[in-house]
Amino acid sequence: MENADQTTAYRLTITVDGVELPVDEEMRHALLNDLSAVVRARFKERHGVQVDQDDITVATGYRYAQVSAECPLCSEELDLLSVYLNTGNGAYASARCSSDHCEWSGDAIYRIVDLEDSESNVVESSVLTDDITPNYAPY
Ligand SMILES: [Zn+2]
Repeated sequence: MENADQTTAYRLTITVDGVELPVDEEMRHALLNDLSAVVRARFKERHGVQVDQDDITVATGYRYAQVSAECPLCSEELDLLSVYLNTGNGAYASARCSSDHCEWSGDAIYRIVDLEDSESNVVESSVLTDDITPNYAPY
């Protein structure tokens, strides 16, 4: 999305909570693949919107978003400096492009995406154990 004035959306997120999917892995995969095919067909038949099958991802579980630590202008590696916590959920790091030909600088934004218990010897994701539930926020 190059132009901030554009109103076209390029990513669609459908979230279904509380569904009991088949325990059998093969049956679950079949259901997810079927859902993907139905969504694609519905877009085309009812709305004339073409979507490549490879652009549809139907998956179970939680997901988090991340971006590479590279310059948004020239794609060179960023130098991350002076990390500081904010008072809420996350931290910032001053970032500067490592290229001598680029002057981009700004903040890298970090968020807590999971908490791991330090008391046991086994590292366990609190998200995967259902001890905490992620929240999703749009940009
Ligand atoms: Zn750069």
